[in-house]
Amino acid sequence: MNLHEYQAKALFARHQIPVPEGRVAANAEEAESAARALGGEIHVVKAQVHAGGRGKAGGVKLVHSPAEAGEAAASMIGRKLVTHQTGGEGLPIERVWVERGSKIARELYLSLLVDRAHERLAFIASPAGGMDIEAVARETPEKITTVGVNPGSGLSGFEARRLGFALGLEPGQMKSFAKLVRGLYDLTLAEDASLVEINPLIVTDTGDILALDAKLNLDDNALYRHKELAEMRDPGQEDPAEAEAGEHGLNYVSLDGNIACMVNGAGLAMATMDLIQLSGGTPANFLDVGGGATAERVTAAFRLILSNENVSAILINIFGGIVRCDVIAEGIIAAVKGVGVPVPVVVRLEGTNAEAGRELLDESGLDIIAAEGLAQAAEKAVEAAGETK
Ligand code: GDP
Ligand code: MN
Repeated sequence: MNLHEYQAKALFARHQIPVPEGRVAANAEEAESAARALGGEIHVVKAQVHAGGRGKAGGVKLVHSPAEAGEAAASMIGRKLVTHQTGGEGLPIERVWVERGSKIARELYLSLLVDRAHERLAFIASPAGGMDIEAVARETPEKITTVGVNPGSGLSGFEARRLGFALGLEPGQMKSFAKLVRGLYDLTLAEDASLVEINPLIVTDTGDILALDAKLNLDDNALYRHKELAEMRDPGQEDPAEAEAGEHGLNYVSLDGNIACMVNGAGLAMATMDLIQLSGGTPANFLDVGGGATAERVTAAFRLILSNENVSAILINIFGGIVRCDVIAEGIIAAVKGVGVPVPVVVRLEGTNAEAGRELLDESGLDIIAAEGLAQAAEKAVEAAGETK
C-alpha cells in the first residue's frame, strides 16, 4: 500500500526526519488559509497523488502569496494528474499539500528499501537528487552508493557517515544527517515499510538538511498490526478493478494485453501467462481466484475481467485439487449466463471431477471452447483472440 506525501511527511516528523512545515488542503479556501497560517513569502502547492514526476507534470507549483496558493489549489483539485508514472489516465487530485517554500542549495537522493537478494535493508544514496533515480543508475552508476545494514547488529554510526560522505556532506552536517538516517531506519522497521524514498533530500541555503519529498510503501502483509496506517488507504488512487478484486478476495493485477485469464493458484496463473506469451499472445491480467472458487467468486471474476475493454478472449485454467471441477463448471455456466460474456471463452479443467465438469460445459449449450492440456488452451485462446480483433 502507498501513502500520500502528506501522510508520509507526518510519519517522517514523528521519527525525527526533518520536513518543511506544511498543511493539507481539500479546496482553494483551505489552501489559502493554510499558506496564511504557515507564514513566509513563498509556498509550494503540491498535488497529492500516488505517483512521482509531479514537478514536470504541473503538479508542484511555487507561489508568492496566500491568494496564489488558493489559485494553484483550484487549478489542481478535481482534475487528474498525468505523470510518467501514472499511465495515460492519470490519478485524481483530491487534496494538495501546502508547504513553506525552501531555498535549495543542493538536491540529493536517499532511500531505504528491502534488499531481498541480500536479505537485509539497504540504503541507496546519490548526490544526483531530484532526478529519475533509475536513469541515474543506468547512465551514471558511479553516482549511486548502496549501504546494506546487517539485521543482527543493526544500524551503526559509520554506515550513516559513509552515506553522508557519498552525498558530499560537510563534517558539520554529519551529526544531523546521522540522526535523519537513524530516523529513516527506525521508521522503516517500526511501520513495516518496504520502501521509503526521499527525492530530493535537500541542503538549504543555510546548510540545513530537509526531506523535500516523501514516498512511502507499506508491506500489505503487515498492515494488520498498523490499524492507523491501514486507515490511511486512499482507494481513489488505486486501480478500481484491483480494489474491487480485493473486496471479493480475488488476487487481480491488470496488464496491457488482450487475453484475460482466470486461474486457481498464483503459480498456475504465472505459468498460464507464460504460456500465453509463448503462444504469441499477451495477457490482459493476472487473476488468481484462489482455492475456494465459488459461483459467486467466478461471477465477480468475470465482471472484473470484462471491465477491461481490451479483452478479446478469456482463458479459464482450473486445476481441481481441493475444488471440484464440476462445481467450477457450474460456476462458469451461471456466471456466463448471468453476466453475459461477449468474447470467446476457452476452458481447461483438470483434476478432481474434471470429466463431470467438461460434460456440464458441453451440455450447457453455451459457446465455450474446451481445451485439453495447458499448451493447447493457450493456443486456442490466442487463436480466438485473433479472430475477435
Ligand atoms: P515529484 O516531481 O513528484 O517527485 O515532486 P517533488 O516533491 O520531488 O518536487 C519536484 C521538484 O520541485 C523538486 O525536485 C524541486 O526542484 C522543486 N521543489 C519542490 N519544493 C520546492 C521548494 O520548496 N522550493 C524550491 N525552490 N523548489 C521546490
Ligand atoms: Mn520527488
